[in-house]
Amino acid sequence: MSTETQTLEFQAETKQLLDLMIHSLYTQKEIFLRELISNASDALDRRRVKALEDSNLEFESEPRIRIEVDRESRTLTLIDNGIGMTRDEVIANIGTIANSGTRKFMEELRENKAEGAELPSMIGQFGVGFYSSFMVADRVVLETRKAGEEKGTRWASEGDGTFTAEESELDSVGTRISMHLKAQTEEDGDEFQDFTAEWVLREIVRKYSDFVEYPIEMDVEREEGEDDEKKMVTQTVTLNSQKPLWTRAKDEITDVEYAEFYKHISHDWTEPFEKVHLAVEGTSVYRALVFVPKQRPFELLDPNRSKSNVDLYVKRVHIESECEGLMPLWLRFVVGVVDSEDLPLNVSRETLQQNRVLAQIKKRLTRKVVEVLKGRLEEDRAGYLEFWNSFGQVIKEGIYFDDGFQKEVTEITLFNTTNEEGPRTLDEYIAAMPEGQKAIYYLAGEDKETLAQSVHLEIAKKLGYEVLLLSDAVDEFAFQKLNEYEGKEIIALDKGDLDLEDDSDKEEREAKAKELEPLLAAVKEELEDAVSEVRFSTRLTDSPVALVTGSGAMTANLERIMREARQPVTETARVLELNPTHPLIERLMTIHSEEGDSSRFADYCDLIHGQALVREGSAVPHPEHFAKLIAQLMM
Ligand code: ADP
Repeated sequence: MSTETQTLEFQAETKQLLDLMIHSLYTQKEIFLRELISNASDALDRRRVKALEDSNLEFESEPRIRIEVDRESRTLTLIDNGIGMTRDEVIANIGTIANSGTRKFMEELRENKAEGAELPSMIGQFGVGFYSSFMVADRVVLETRKAGEEKGTRWASEGDGTFTAEESELDSVGTRISMHLKAQTEEDGDEFQDFTAEWVLREIVRKYSDFVEYPIEMDVEREEGEDDEKKMVTQTVTLNSQKPLWTRAKDEITDVEYAEFYKHISHDWTEPFEKVHLAVEGTSVYRALVFVPKQRPFELLDPNRSKSNVDLYVKRVHIESECEGLMPLWLRFVVGVVDSEDLPLNVSRETLQQNRVLAQIKKRLTRKVVEVLKGRLEEDRAGYLEFWNSFGQVIKEGIYFDDGFQKEVTEITLFNTTNEEGPRTLDEYIAAMPEGQKAIYYLAGEDKETLAQSVHLEIAKKLGYEVLLLSDAVDEFAFQKLNEYEGKEIIALDKGDLDLEDDSDKEEREAKAKELEPLLAAVKEELEDAVSEVRFSTRLTDSPVALVTGSGAMTANLERIMREARQPVTETARVLELNPTHPLIERLMTIHSEEGDSSRFADYCDLIHGQALVREGSAVPHPEHFAKLIAQLMM
C-alpha cells in the first residue's frame, strides 16, 4: 500500500452531483446531518454483526456517535466508532466510482427536473448521502480506520472535482468526518441555520434521528454554581431518545414521527401509503412496524433486488438486514422491522430460513398488511388505484405462490375488464354478472388494447358478459393456479371447449359439422401439423376464424412470455375454429364442393389460417408465402 498522498478525480456523475449539491440546493440543507448519522448508524450496525463472528472486532468502548463543534474555526465533526473503511473502500465508496445510486439520481434529475424543494429529500433514496455534506461545507475531511486494521486513511476534498487520499495515524477504529462550514450567503436568506449552534443541532437530531438506537452525543457548556461562584462546565449530553419507534406505544407516536422513521429506513422521500404496527404477546412475543410505500422504487421488478425489505431485530439488537422469511415474496416492497423476544441473539442466517418463530410472524404480519390494504381499497378507491398501479404487478404473484393467501390476495386485486369504468375486483365483477352467467371469463395477452379487439370476445359480447383483460406476465401464471373464485369457475375464452351456446345453436352447429365433415377434414389435411384440429366454432359471431388453445396446452400468450423470459417452449398446435355462418367460410365451402382439394382451396386454407394468426398478433410461419397469396388475390 502506498503511503504518499494521492490526488484523484471524482467520476463524472459524482462531479455533476457535487456541483448540484453546491450550487442548486438551497433549502433543507439540514438533512446532511441525517444522512451522515444514518451512515454512522449503519457502520455501527455492521461492526456489531461482524464482532459476533470475530472477537478482534469487538468495540473497545460503547458504540456511539459524537458531534463535535468548534465555533471559532466553524467546523462540525461527526465521529463514530463503527466498522470504518480501508483505503480502497474509501476510494471506491466515496469518490471515484459513482455508485448506481448516483447515476440513477442524476438520470432522474435530468428526466424530471424536480423542483428545488424536492431535491434534498430525494437525496437519501439514491445513496448519495455522504455528498450532501458539501451543501453546508466547503471542505470535508474524512478520516477512517477499519476494524481489524492498523492504519487509517485520510480523505479530503473541497468538492471541486478532485479529492486526496493518504495514510493517516488514527488511534481508534471508526470514522470521523470534519466539515468546514460555509459562511452565510444571501441565498440562505432567512433559511440560514447555524450548524454550530447547540439548539440547531439538537432540533435536527430530534427531528430526523431521534430513534437511532446509538447515543448521539455532544459536549455542551453549562453554567454551574451559585451567583458569585458561577462557572462554565462542559457536560456530555445525549441528543436522541434512542427509543426505537416500534417499542413505543402506538398512541404516543405522531404521524410525523412514523413518517420520519419510514423515510429513515426506506430512503424513500414520500410519505408511506400504509403502516402496520404490532405488539404481540402470547406464544410468540414480538413487535413489528412495517410500511407499505406509495411510490414504486426503480428496481421493483429487478430480479437482482433483495427479496425482502424487512430487518430482523432480537431484543432491540439488529440481527439481519433484508431478512427473507419475514414477508412473502409478493410483499417484498414492504419496508420495516421485526423485533423478536424469542429468538436467540446468535441465531444463524442458515437456520433463520426455516425458523418456526419467523414463519408465524410472517403469517400474522402478512394478514395484517393485506387487511390494511383491503381497508384502503374499500375506503379510498382513488388512492388504492394509484397504489395498485405501482405494486399490483408484484402483489398478484401472491395468487400464484400458493402460501395460504391466495384468496386474500385475489380479494384485493384489481383487474382490467371490458367494462370501461376502470379496474374491478372479482367481487365487483361477480356482483355485476347478468342472469345466466355462471363463470368468470378472462382473456390474457400482451396489452389491453389488443385484447379489447380480440375475436374471442365476440361470444361474450353477444351474451352481455364482462371479460377480464389480463396483460401482465404474472396474470397467466396466477390464473393457471386460480381455477375458481367464490364457487365460480374461471375460464379463459381462448382455451378449450366453451360451453356458451344455447341448445338450438348447438344443434345447428352439430348438424352442420356432420354434414360438412369432409370440408373440415380437407382443411385439416391442407394445414397439416400447423393445427391440431379444425372444427366449427362455438364462440365466433362476427369473425371468420379463430385459433383456440387445447384445454391442457399453453396459450399463445404464455408461449410468448416464456420465450421473452428465455425459457424453453414446446409449441403445441392449436385448434382452428371456423365460423360456419361467415361469408368467407361459406365461400370456402363452395370452392371445396366445386373443386375439391384444388390448389386454390389449399391457398385459401393458408390464407384463413394466416389471418387468424395475424389477428391475434402472432407471427405467420411463412410470411413470404402469405404475402404472395394476398398479392395474388388482389391481382
Ligand atoms: P449510502 O450510504 O447511501 O450507500 P453514501 O455516499 O452516504 O451512500 O456512502 C457510501 C458508502 O460509504 C456507504 O455505503 C458505506 O459503505 C461507506 N460509508 C459512508 N459513511 C461511512 C461511515 N461513517 N463508516 C463506514 N462506512 C461509511
